[in-house]
Amino acid sequence: QDQKTWNFSAGPAVIPRPVLERAQRELLNWNNCGCSVMELSHRSPEFESILSKAEQDFRQILSIPKNYKVLWMQGGATAQFSAVVYNLLGSFDKTADYIVTGAWTSKAVEEAQRLGARVNVVANTKSTGHNGALPPISSWEFTPPSESAYIYYTSNETVHGVEFPDDEAFFSSLPAGVPVICDMSSNIMSRKIDITKYACIFAGAQKNIGPAGVTVLIIREDLIGTRVNPSLTIPIMLDYKICAENNSMYNTPPTYSIYIAGLVFEWLQSIGGLAAIEALNLRKSSKLYDTVAKSDGFYRCPVKEGYRSRMNIPFRIYGKDGQASKELEGKFLKEAEGRGMVQLKGHRSVGGIRASLYNAMPEEGVDALTGFMEEFRRANV
Ligand code: PMP
Repeated sequence: QDQKTWNFSAGPAVIPRPVLERAQRELLNWNNCGCSVMELSHRSPEFESILSKAEQDFRQILSIPKNYKVLWMQGGATAQFSAVVYNLLGSFDKTADYIVTGAWTSKAVEEAQRLGARVNVVANTKSTGHNGALPPISSWEFTPPSESAYIYYTSNETVHGVEFPDDEAFFSSLPAGVPVICDMSSNIMSRKIDITKYACIFAGAQKNIGPAGVTVLIIREDLIGTRVNPSLTIPIMLDYKICAENNSMYNTPPTYSIYIAGLVFEWLQSIGGLAAIEALNLRKSSKLYDTVAKSDGFYRCPVKEGYRSRMNIPFRIYGKDGQASKELEGKFLKEAEGRGMVQLKGHRSVGGIRASLYNAMPEEGVDALTGFMEEFRRANV
């Protein structure tokens, strides 16, 4: 790198260096077409080839079955909080089940309720400050399948650092036949998943996919246009059917974001796909959690083990009085920045420190951070 900077931002986040270098090389003249991708008509064969290659690689990486459509939408992941209600609730007689493990599902619940949906919060970790301490699945009260529209959860809560274990126990405890919707914005493509367990997955791009501006959807074909709530008129840009019928180009898509996403997919394939990145992500996050664990309580992660995110790792720094110390945290952030480790400040709603270790964060960056954490602890304990 020109300047040794490690970017721990939660999003928009670090993009693989080789991708940025390639985009730079291709900036003025893409594929000898004489202009930049930014300047290409979305209806041109050049852009159509970019879009279809991106979809093909995305499908390959995640092993997306043929009966699932990939849609490129806009309005961020937040627009999907509304879109799922418009497209998948079916009717106001149905109930939507939400599993609340942090800030983002809470927002999705608020939006569903704002649109008039009947929401059943199956489990909620709010009273614990969203520390991942979910009650046992056997105690959750799901809506009976005949009355249930869908089950909604967030696989990785970016603010609180809570990652849902993608385990058999969870999926096998869900009522049979109810569509499962998952907000995978902050951990998509970070590990292997079985797409067939989901009815609909969506993800804002600005963490593991590429720049902000595009939201990727993976949706089972039979759900498109068949669960629309007749009491609501879907704003055209949120309509899955319109989007699918128009090959994600009902209007002008965020072409440059899609192009960069395509380069990120090629990069991920080149380093070995999901198997390789999953192993790397596990190694990187374990190094950080180990550093916290071995700090004698100087650093503490509030999230319960088993639910700790490999993508976003929040921690607090404790002073001699046994309390989390804003003063020490401020000092930590300042000194880290001096060493080129940036955007480590925790979300404003929770404070403390948060290190986001998305796919594109090299292991070297994590080594730099853990090395600094050790030094800082020794100097301030
Ligand atoms: N869901 C999750 C899990 C997120 O992390 C975010 C953004 N950080 C959102 C939804 C909202 O995304 P957007 O800002 O793209 O609307």
